[in-house]
Amino acid sequence: MSDELSLAGRVAVVTGASRGIGAAIADNLAAHGASLILSAFSNHAVLEQTRDEIVSRHGVTVDLVIGDIADPATSAALAKLAFSKYRRLDIWVNNAGVLLDGLIGMISDADIQATLGTNLAGVLHGTQAAARLMQRAKSGSIINIASIIGRFGNSGQLAYGASKAGVIGATMSAAKELAPSNIRVNAIAPGFIDTDMVRQLPEAKFAERMKSISMNRIGTPQDIANAALFLASDLSTYVTGQTLGVDGGMVI
Ligand code: NAP
Repeated sequence: MSDELSLAGRVAVVTGASRGIGAAIADNLAAHGASLILSAFSNHAVLEQTRDEIVSRHGVTVDLVIGDIADPATSAALAKLAFSKYRRLDIWVNNAGVLLDGLIGMISDADIQATLGTNLAGVLHGTQAAARLMQRAKSGSIINIASIIGRFGNSGQLAYGASKAGVIGATMSAAKELAPSNIRVNAIAPGFIDTDMVRQLPEAKFAERMKSISMNRIGTPQDIANAALFLASDLSTYVTGQTLGVDGGMVI
């Protein structure tokens, strides 16, 4: 393993880590030696199973925080645990998200609030909690999981597109503010990735999205986890404020 990819001795928080992209990112960071603090909200058993699998595969320490990421108390609890247990925080991945599609005339206020609360406010609170702790060591990497929809928009994704465009804007603002403290902030914009989130789509919509991928295959959570590893590691020490598309040449 190259030294620049080693995360031995580093501490990483990953939100929405029970399954899908978050679980793959957590697994990849652990594979490279990071200690983990993971969170999710509604399904404790799945998060515990993911933790057990990561521990048995990689032998790293993994702690869990259960909580709604829309509530600032969840990010505060994650940072508090990192500080009390390790006195350090190196990597924070804002990954938790929901997809609640709806045409403009149909989307409910509850769905708008849930989308903005989880996908955008959750990232803002996570960034605050991470930055406060990373400022102590004047080092760290914050990685925000945005979406291709936040860059180009999509029919039926008014709130989701707004939340993810907001994540990209927040990434650039935080990068500018935190660069003097040597804290990097970058986003990944996945295209169409094979997780529970997209398997809930109606068959026709799923097929339509598949046709828009130039590389002719759905993305895997590992594709995103590889990009996250780059942004978490010392291979990217001079990269900040960027949004890295990982979409197989998808056209929206
Ligand atoms: P997923 O399989 O549905 O997993 C979502 C994760 O977020 C789960 O661990 C879930 O845990 C957690 N979560 C959801 N709401 C939460 C809340 N209020 N508080 C705390 N945790 C919460 O989704 P995914 O496809 O892996 O997506 C991960 C990220 O990638 C999201 O931000 C998504 O928008 C983004 N993304 C995905 C795709 C794609 O094609 N899959 C494309 C672009 C961007 P619980 O259910 O236990 O709460």
